[in-house]
Order: sequence, then structure tokens, then C-alpha cells
Amino acid sequence: MNPAMRRFLLPAFLLLLAVAPKLLPPFYITLINYIGLYALVALGLVLLTGVGGLTSFGQAAFVGIGAYATAYLTTTPAAELAPWLAFFGQSPWLTLIFGLTATGLLAITLGSLTLRLSGHYLPLGTMAWGLSLYYLFGTVSFLGRQTGLGGIPNIEFFGIVLDDGPSMYYLIWAFLLAGIFTAQNLLDSREGRAIRALKGGIVMAEAMGVNTSRARMIIFVIAALQAATSGWLYAHLQHFVSPTPFGLHLGIEYLFMAVVGGAGYVWGALVGAGIITILKHWLQEFLPKLLGQSGNFDNIVFGIMMIVVLLRAREGIFPLLRKIGSRNSTQTIKPFNPEAEPLPKRDMPPQGDTLLEVKHVTKRFGGLVANNDLSFTVKAGEVMALIGPNGAGKSTMFNCISGVNPPTEGEVVFRGKVISGMESRDIAKLGMSRTFQHVRLLPTMTVLENVAIGAHLRGHRGVIPAAWRLDRKEESRLLAEAARQIERVGLKEHMFDAAGSLALGKQRIVEIARALTADPSLLLLDEPAAGLRFKEKQALAELLRKLRAEGMGILLVEHDMDFVMGLADRCTVMEFGELLAEGLPEEIQTNPKVLEAYLGGADE
Ligand code: ADP
Ligand code: MG
Repeated sequence: MNPAMRRFLLPAFLLLLAVAPKLLPPFYITLINYIGLYALVALGLVLLTGVGGLTSFGQAAFVGIGAYATAYLTTTPAAELAPWLAFFGQSPWLTLIFGLTATGLLAITLGSLTLRLSGHYLPLGTMAWGLSLYYLFGTVSFLGRQTGLGGIPNIEFFGIVLDDGPSMYYLIWAFLLAGIFTAQNLLDSREGRAIRALKGGIVMAEAMGVNTSRARMIIFVIAALQAATSGWLYAHLQHFVSPTPFGLHLGIEYLFMAVVGGAGYVWGALVGAGIITILKHWLQEFLPKLLGQSGNFDNIVFGIMMIVVLLRAREGIFPLLRKIGSRNSTQTIKPFNPEAEPLPKRDMPPQGDTLLEVKHVTKRFGGLVANNDLSFTVKAGEVMALIGPNGAGKSTMFNCISGVNPPTEGEVVFRGKVISGMESRDIAKLGMSRTFQHVRLLPTMTVLENVAIGAHLRGHRGVIPAAWRLDRKEESRLLAEAARQIERVGLKEHMFDAAGSLALGKQRIVEIARALTADPSLLLLDEPAAGLRFKEKQALAELLRKLRAEGMGILLVEHDMDFVMGLADRCTVMEFGELLAEGLPEEIQTNPKVLEAYLGGADE
């Protein structure tokens, strides 16, 4: 499909949506209404699970909160409610506000309890509160127990009573499209990149200044609010609520929808909800006929289908559709204004000023002493090399300095401030940036977007401006800065390539660009030349010399001795966590202890 046709796709889809209620029989309208309701919940899961990597089985419970909040408040006589609740009960629009507020508060509470859980504990945690809320709906007498609550009034919209499927249709789809639109905008922003960075690992995201707990909480709350909105719409479509649709079973089904559609793609939510709703309906109708007996065969077929999707199309069905649509599939080429006003820069300390002081740092992992009483300094405008055989403790030292692990003993001072014990993101704020020995990029994101994560601390616009595209001016400046750094490290022609498609050596250079985008005064590079070809190494050395001349301090961990010796101003040599030698490169090269450590069988 050519780009002109793709541009035509969305308006055509919207037009089709607009006229559908006029053309289709009521049965299909109902079906499409349900697809819309489900897709709204699945959309939250796309953000939460697909983008943020947090799995929740409990979304149906949030749908229940939205539904029950409005059901209870709009059907209970005002005299029986506390005055402030009676106020909300006057109109479904007020109960929507009430339901969203209640859901938001509950999500923050549940999130602060469960989001800290890692691995499979988080999904288990979501199941736990999903079940509790489900049983709460079925147990509390004022919520009607298993009988539920009926007689929920119609929503009115500027005098129009939304009393049937077709009229609710427009409201449901307006909410869904607004949800898709804002989610897409959010992902394409500074906060969105911070959220997407979660999948690159907490250590990387925090090193770029992202508050990962906050980023997780943001998507958790957004997903909960979208689910609650769906519940509110559902209650006023059905005019009746009971606990069944808010149980764990539906919680799992929502997750199915997100995964089948394509958990990383906002439109995947719609594709997944559409496919599953239609298929389910179809299977419920035809399977019993086909098999000549009644039963829940649809669930069995679903299970099988899920396994097939996981095996054959792990990314879901939406990306497959997109691939059919165009050859050049995953990259979205983001237009940005390279002329955007440059971001303000940090004051660089004068050449020769001490930037970093490592004072008697010891780091123990249980009985293992990875760093033993090490001290050294890095000055502005110098390249300080930290060398030593594999396992000497160099990366551990990087982690002590950059706040990934606090030192067990000793102190790290950066620009006059004690930073040992500080959070990695707070250290980043002071002007320290780093790369990783094991590259930590988001492989499906473009080089430009990856590098722009480095600019996180140089922007300020939050989630709401991003969702409504009020952040475009700042966003242009951040992207232009990222582009400048990509050009600076010589990767301009790869700007819009997926980072994962680059050779490993080039990915290391992308990490340097990302670190530079943070505008650091101290750069920590963990084996930047590994995997580079000779020419590329020369170019990297040239770049580091230029940075040094601009006054940047560089702490360099590197294995390639030729590379280090041609570049470093001073060297510190480590072995088994201890200081072996320090001095000028030429002194180090002839130091017998160093020669022995390197030639005496230590693997390199
Ligand atoms: P280098 O970067 O010099 O090759 P590292 O700093 O990666 O060395 O490792 C030094 C030693 O510390 C190794 O023995 C390694 O196994 C150990 N080590 C590093 N990180 C951890 C950790 N998080 N937990 C336990 N041991 C660790
Ligand atoms: Mg290492």
C-alpha cells in the first residue's frame, strides 16, 4: 500500500464508523458497541503490558468499579445517600467523575502496594486484588450482591437521551477514539519514551533520569481509568450490573485481546477486541450446532488460539496487518524540526577541575569483594582509563559511581557533592551520564527515539500536555538535540533505523549519543570500543578527544590497550577488585605488575 492510500485509511475508517449505525441491523450495532467497550479496556493493557511490560489480570475489577459506582449512585434514592454522594448521583456525568476519582485513588493505592513486585509476583498480585474486588461486588448488600443493580438511567448528552444501542454507539466510540488518540500521542512524547524505556530495564531508564516507579504508576492509573470508563459506559448501555462481567475470567480475556491484537500497538487493542468479540460470538453460535451439543466450546478453542498466536505471532495480529499494508513496517518516521531552538546547556566546569572523587570505595557482594578500597579522581577535560582483566571489578565500580549499587564502604563525590547512596536518576541530574557494557537499547525503537530518552531530564512537559499534543515545541527541541548528537557521533544515516538492526558496535555508539544527549559534564563509558572495526575505533577516539577538548571528563573502561593508550591521560589498573597500578599510559605500559596481570593468563 502506498503512503497516500495509508493516509486515506483513517478517514475511511472514521467515515465507516460514522455511517455504520444507519446501515447495520441492531444486532451488529450491539456487537460493535461491545467491541468498543472491550477495546477501551484492552487499550489500557496495551500501555501497561505491551509497552510497559507489566502484566495485569485485574483490569475487569476496575471496569466493575466504574460500573458499580454509577449504578449505585444513580439508582439509590437521594434521601438514602450522604449529601455529597447524592450530589454525584444527580447525573451520570457526575458519577463518571466520581467513578474515575475513586478508581484513580484505588489504583494509586493498589499500585503502590503491587507495582514494586517483580517477575511473576506482580501478575499474581493483580489476580489477588481482581478476585477481592469481584467478591466484594457480590457480597456487599448495597451493591445488590449476586442479583446486581438494575434500572440504571440513560445518559443525556446536551438534551439528547442516549437510550438505545445506536445512540450509545457514538458515545462509546468517541471515548475509544479519544483514548486511542491520546495514548498514541502520549507514547510519542517525552513521558511516553520514559514509559517505553521501562522495557529496556530499570537500570538504564533510571540512569537516563527516568523515575521508573512514577512511570509505572502513570500507566497503571491510565489503564485503570480507561477500564473504569468502559464500566461506566457498560452500565448505561445495559442499565443493569451484576458481578459476573467483572471477574478474573474477563480479566484474562482482556489480556487475551491486548496480546492477540498486538500488545505493543494502540490500534492492536481494537484489532484484538474486534477479533475476539466476533470470534467468540461466532464460536458460541456455531460450535454447539457443529458438535450437536451445548457447552463452553468457545473457551477451549480460545485457549488453543492463544497458544497459536503466542507461537506464530508473538507481537500480535496488528503488526501483521500493518506489514501487509506496507513493506517498510515498524518504523514510523517522525518529522521533527532540526532548526528547533537548542536546549539550554549545563555550565561546564573549568578544565582541570576535579569532577569526580572516588574515596576508598569497597563493594562487597556477600563474601565477594568486587572493589577493595579503591580511590581515584577524574578531572574536567581528561580521559581517565580504568583498566584490568575481566572480572577485575570495573563495571562494579561504574555501578557504584552511577548509583546502580551503593558502595559498601567509602564515598563518591561528584562536583563537590557526596553522591554515594543517591538514586541513579538524581546523580544523572547532576550531570553524569553513562553507557553500558551490555548494550541497553530498545531494539524496535528508532535510533532517534532511543537517543531522545537521554534528553529526558532536559524537558519538563508531563503526561496531560503530551496526550493532547501541547508539548510539540519542547518535543521538537528534544528531538533536534537527539538528532544533533546522533550526527555528532556519526550515525546520521541510521537516525530512523530500528536500533536493534544496527551492528553491535554501532549500538554502542548509539548509547554514547544517548548519554551525550543528557548534556553531561562527566561521561562514563563501559567498553565503548568493543565490537568496533578499526576505522570505527579511530572515529570514536576522535570523538572522545573532541569531547575532552570541550572540557568533558571521561571515565573509560576498555579492553583494547592500543585504543586506551592512544587516548587516556591517566590510567588506573585494577585486578581482583584491588588497585594494581596507576599513572600515565607510558608508565602503565612498562609496569611489570601490569604486564604480568595482562600476560599472566588473565582472559581478555
Ligand atoms: P569487570 O567489569 O571488571 O569485568 P565486574 O565488575 O563485572 O568486572 O565483576 C567483578 C566481580 O564482581 C565478578 O566476580 C562478578 O561476578 C562480581 N559481581 C558483579 N556484579 C555482581 C552482583 N550484582 N552480584 C554479585 N556479584 C557480582
Ligand atoms: Mg565489565
